[in-house]
Formats: sequence, structure tokens, C-alpha cells
Amino acid sequence: MSAHIGVTGLAVMGANLARNLARNGFTVALHNRSVEKTDALLEKHGTEGDFIRTETLQELVDSLEKPRRVLIMVKAGAPVDNVIEQLEPLLEAGDIIIDAGNSHYEDTRRREAALAKKDLHFVGVGVSGGEEGALNGPSIMPGGSRESYDALGPLLEKISAKVDGEPCCAWIGTDGAGHFVKMVHNGIEYADMQVIGEAFDLLRSGAGIEPAEQSKIFAEWNKGDLSSFLIEISAEVLGHVDAKTGKPFVDVVVDAAGQKGTGRWTVISALELGSPVSGIAESVFARALSSQTEQRKLGQELLAGEEASVEIPETFVEDVRQALYASKLVSYAQGLDMLTSAAKEYGWDLKLDEIASLWRAGCIIRAELLKDITKAYAADEKPANLLFAPAFTKAIAEALPAWRRVVATAVQLGIPVPVFSSSLAYYDGLRRKRVAAALIQGQRDLFGAHTYGRVDTEGTFHTLWGEDKSEISAVDTH
Ligand code: NDP
Repeated sequence: MSAHIGVTGLAVMGANLARNLARNGFTVALHNRSVEKTDALLEKHGTEGDFIRTETLQELVDSLEKPRRVLIMVKAGAPVDNVIEQLEPLLEAGDIIIDAGNSHYEDTRRREAALAKKDLHFVGVGVSGGEEGALNGPSIMPGGSRESYDALGPLLEKISAKVDGEPCCAWIGTDGAGHFVKMVHNGIEYADMQVIGEAFDLLRSGAGIEPAEQSKIFAEWNKGDLSSFLIEISAEVLGHVDAKTGKPFVDVVVDAAGQKGTGRWTVISALELGSPVSGIAESVFARALSSQTEQRKLGQELLAGEEASVEIPETFVEDVRQALYASKLVSYAQGLDMLTSAAKEYGWDLKLDEIASLWRAGCIIRAELLKDITKAYAADEKPANLLFAPAFTKAIAEALPAWRRVVATAVQLGIPVPVFSSSLAYYDGLRRKRVAAALIQGQRDLFGAHTYGRVDTEGTFHTLWGEDKSEISAVDTH
């Protein structure tokens, strides 16, 4: 019996993907650098489907039907290169190496180009949903060649999450497109988590609503247009009481947020692309600031607050809900706009409706909202920005007064709301007829002769600031 697919790297993610594949009727060859993990998996879950035990990569390769599909699920970074190096001489033209770990898309582009020269397919696959998703149906974002998807897609679609029977898996685009889209998914996830955190802080510190009560509010919100996995689990976390102290769990947790790096990657890449993902960036920085615990201790002692005493309006909870919705929408708009910029830069034909649709289930940002986002990009006329899709233009206009009230109240109370406020600034920056960049262009021309355009005449100009301030036609020399 030949295996349909081999999995090497059987820590929690690889083991769960292997089990998912086996439970869906595929024969899975198993391999891990140290054989203990292979045996542990077989001992605990060997009856869930058809597995083939292998001890070496040669045995793994020999056990596979052709074209061979080898899924690598080892620690991201050098270990992936290490495994590829060992696998490559064992494979034949047309075989497919799949990396479903959290690899950086530039690494995936490099690996794909190198292996393509040897007639091997290399497919970087973004997988979201954590351990649970890997086992029961993740959202899957495969890159690589279209040809490799023909051989691999049916397996991935089968094990992915489903919405109304449709798989949350579709070919994203060539080389690193899958890992890029997964990275941006994680960036949106950071922003989504931060806006929910800001809502919690406002309701707690602003309106004095206890976590247990907030848990009910969040559960209620989860029935409406905010309905999503992250709101659902926030209600659960807020309702949890610490067994040791009897206090709300959120009061005994150190408020320093960790990060593993994909948010940071998104922001670095956005800066390179010139893509204004301000909400995602603020959410990464907010985690970084929260983790500067020593400075925060000093800040508490040394820095004045001068918070105004603000009357909290009766509508505050609903206002916060609307501000949360609007800010969340902006985070999605920014993330999707970044995908549009990346598609131009890297020559990918990214289909935003398909991408939004495969985020509807299985992944961490799964949300009702994604159904409407999918519809917006499936329309004949694609919006240049998500906020320009008629349904969202209307929804955000309705939320706007509450959003402004909440940001103003937060500022007066001294409660930081970096994503609520930066999202509002992005919205106003898109909407305003004239922005501060006019003065910046003047400054740049004065100190660096960087030149400027005029609103009334085509061309490039420079003012002779140090002379008689007359204007000349110019070309930018910088
Ligand atoms: P780890 O990232 O902890 O990696 C451990 C596995 O890598 C083990 O099987 C280990 O083998 C193997 N390994 C490490 N170095 C080497 C090497 N040089 N050569 C061969 N094998 C090596 O495992 P996880 O299951 O947590 O994650 C796997 C991938 O999935 C990572 O890229 C991670 O970022 C990603 N991930 C994705 C998540 C998601 O939601 N999509 C969630 C969690 C992880 P050994 O047992 O011999 O030490």
C-alpha cells in the first residue's frame, strides 16, 4: 500500500494535520527526526486511519505514491531548509514538497525558485486555526504552482474547514502567495484582538463594568454583526474566575502581551510596500509597549495623567460596540489593501473574494463579517477599498458618530485606544479633501529640493527658497 501523502515533523501541528488527513480517508506516511514522536502518535491515535510508520526520510519517500507529496511541519526557519536539503536528493521531477509551517514568504519564494530549477514543486501553505483547527479543519492558504495545486488541492480541500459544504481552502497564487496571505491574516488577527481589548478597557476603566458583566455583553455582541470566534472566546475569558483567588481571571493575568512574530512581519512588509496598515502596526506596538514592564512601572510613578472627569453617556456600551465594529472594518480594509499592493509587487493574481471566503471558518479571524466582505469583492465592480463597498460605506457612516464620541471620551479619560483612534484617523485621511501632506511637501522642497506637484498645473516644480522664492520647473534629483 502506498501512502497518499507523507508528513515529516510530528509535534502538535504536524501530528494533528496527519490525523486529520487519515480521518479523511488518506493513507499517511509518518516521519519525525526522533522516532519517539512517530511512535507516540501511532500508539495514541494509530486506529484513527491508515498510517505507515517510517524511521528515515528515505523510507518516507519510498512509501509514497507518485507524484510524491511530502508535507514538512517542522520548526520554522533553518530546520525547514535542513529538511528540504535532505529530501531533495531523494525525490524525482514532479514531486511536491509542502511547507505548512509559519514560514516567512520571502523564504518560501527563495525555496520555491531553488527547487523549481530541479523540477520539484515547492508549496508554501498558510494554515490557520491552531492545534484544534489542524485536527478538525483549518483554513488553508496554499501557494506554489497551479500545477502542484491540481495534485495537492483535493487533499487540502478535504481536510479544511467548511462553510455550507464549501472548503476554506483555495489556491492563492504562485510562490510565496499562500504564506503572505497567512501572514496578513495574522496581522489582521493582531488588530482584531487589540480592538476587542480596547473595548474591554473602556468598559472596565471608563464605565466601571466588571468582567462578569462584560462577559454577558460580549456574548450578546456575538449574536450581531460582530459575531466572530474572537468575540466568542473573549466572552469566555471575561467570564472565567480564577480558582486560586476567586477574582476575575483577567485581573490576575500579567498585562504584558506576547508575540511570535507574524504581526511584526506584516508591518515590516507593509512598510516596504508603502501600505498604510496603521491599525495592524498600532496593535503590534501596543503589545510591545505592554511588555515594557519596567518602564511602565516607572511611568506609573512619574507621569501625570490629568484625566478629565467625563460623564459616561448612557449609550456608552452601544457606542463602544459601534466603535469596535468600525475599527475592525478598517483593520480588514487595511489588510486587504495590503494584499492588493503585494499582488502588484509580486505579480500575484490575488482574488480577495476567495481569500475572504476561506477566512470564514477554521481560522482565528473567522467572523460573520467575512461573508459580507466576500460578497463585496465578488461583485462585478470590485471596490478599490473595502470601505468603498456600498454596504460598508453605509455601515461605517452609521457607526461614525459613536466612534468619534468613544475616541474623544477615551482621550479625555486617558485610556489608550491606539487602534480605535488610528483607524478613525485612517478613515478621515481617506475622506478629507486636503491633508497635511501639502505642508510636508513644502518642507521637503525647502530643505531638500525634493520638488512638488501643483493642483492646477501638470509637472514637477521647485521653489528657490534661498533666493527670490520664484518657482521653477524641476525634476526630482533625490
Ligand atoms: P515546533 O515548531 O515546536 O517544531 C517541532 C518539530 O520540528 C519537531 O517535530 C522537531 O523534531 C522538528 N524539528 C526541529 N528542528 C528540526 C530539524 N533541524 N530537522 C528536523 N526536524 C526538526 O512544532 P509545532 O507543531 O508547534 O509547529 C510546526 C510549525 O507550525 C511551525 O512552523 C509553527 O510556527 C507552525 N504553527 C502553526 C500554528 C498555526 O496555527 N498555524 C500553530 C502552531 C504552530 P524532533 O521531535 O526530533 O525535535
